[in-house]
Amino acid sequence: MRFPVYSLRFLDSSTNLFRIDSDLIRRFGVSDADYRLYPQIDFFTEAFNAQAYSAWLKNCKAGHSRRPLSLYVHIPFCRSLCFYCQFNQILAESNDTITTYLNHLSREIKLQAQFFKENPKLEQLYFGGGTPTLLNETQLKNILQEIQQNFNLMKDGEFTIEVDSRQMSRLSMQALREMGFNCVIMGVQDFDHDVQQSIHRAQTEDVTLNAICDAQQAGFKTIRTELMYGLPAQTVKKFEYTLEKIIKIHPDQINLLNYNHFPERFKPQRNINSEDLPDADTVLEVLLLAISRLTEAGYKHIGMNLFAVRDDQLVIAQRQGRLCYGLQGYSVYPDNYRIALGMSAIGSFGSVLSQNDCDLQRYYEKLEHNVLPIMRGVELSADDLIRRSVMQALICHSILSFESVETYFPIEFKDYFAAELVELMVYEQAGLVTLDDQEIAVTPQGQLLMNSVCRVFDKYLRINRQRKNKPVLI
Ligand code: SF4
Repeated sequence: MRFPVYSLRFLDSSTNLFRIDSDLIRRFGVSDADYRLYPQIDFFTEAFNAQAYSAWLKNCKAGHSRRPLSLYVHIPFCRSLCFYCQFNQILAESNDTITTYLNHLSREIKLQAQFFKENPKLEQLYFGGGTPTLLNETQLKNILQEIQQNFNLMKDGEFTIEVDSRQMSRLSMQALREMGFNCVIMGVQDFDHDVQQSIHRAQTEDVTLNAICDAQQAGFKTIRTELMYGLPAQTVKKFEYTLEKIIKIHPDQINLLNYNHFPERFKPQRNINSEDLPDADTVLEVLLLAISRLTEAGYKHIGMNLFAVRDDQLVIAQRQGRLCYGLQGYSVYPDNYRIALGMSAIGSFGSVLSQNDCDLQRYYEKLEHNVLPIMRGVELSADDLIRRSVMQALICHSILSFESVETYFPIEFKDYFAAELVELMVYEQAGLVTLDDQEIAVTPQGQLLMNSVCRVFDKYLRINRQRKNKPVLI
């Protein structure tokens, strides 16, 4: 299939005009890699189990770590299934199911807390899912109380909850604010009825806009809305309508998520007919329109399709060179003191990544035996750590000075990454990066294809590619 070369000119955040075409997207843009995590989850091993995790925490004297901790709490339940979903979710049939889960979560909080010195400081708390707002006020308060009894929530910390505006009958924004949450993340996707039908997510415009308004009135520090492009039945005009409505209500952050169709990996996506998906040109046009409108409206492109108002803490952190990127995306906090709680949750502590059991019954059984429900994990090698920091620098700041890497790691950048620098020359010719003797800079076009730029530094993909290219003896 031949893709026509489609090009658009639009304003980037520094008001320079630049061009990008669908040919470039076709060559560099198709990737299921997600560098919030490196190495990717396929490289976790079951040999890294609860015992290995506990031994590692004890050895590294985690209780005395210099940085305060982050806590991720996973609530896996949803009322209905969105067909684009890539998460590990369970359809909640009754409140009893949720109560049983929360009881086990409380056990896990206690088990994890025992590794840290008394009342360890917590600067970041994140309730994600699934649908955390399926919990009622009492359930949420109880779990927060359990956390407070075991950890010391810092006054100026960041406490985030993912809110499904369709599932707020048992909670209010004001109640969430009073519980201590100061950031909300709300999924919107697209207001169009046909798009919503095809993704099995009915969510009226009024419900969404009222929820955003309520959050603004309740005084949340950060309100992030998430739109999704590349969905079935989506057109430029339909998405433009959604975009205009959202821009008008002016949330602090707008995340443009790209729908990636991988039905062989994500079961819910098998309900989406690939013929209903917009073609490559439409997807690109939607993206470019969104970028253009958002920058005109005063939003700054942080990177990875996240936009924020000019005085947002992420914009300030980026300007000051202290922006971080990790499992929750961009943040002002580093991601490497993150404890994960709940079924399938992923933790990142020092040089270790771990994942809890993805099977609910096994998750329960382990906790009932007072065993941490770690299913798999990986201890990062020195090479993994170097590559992770290179990718994070590119994703956060679009520029990487070789010297900055050499300051932290005992390597000669140009020798260590000789093969990668050669590979990047193709990206340079395509206008995605610029290279010189001291640094790599990602261009505005390259920022839209950042995953692809990061792939160059992904050792595991490189090994796979080399293996595939080897002659097979039969
Ligand atoms: S997208 Fe979110 S709300 Fe929808 S099924 Fe997946 S986890 Fe649940």
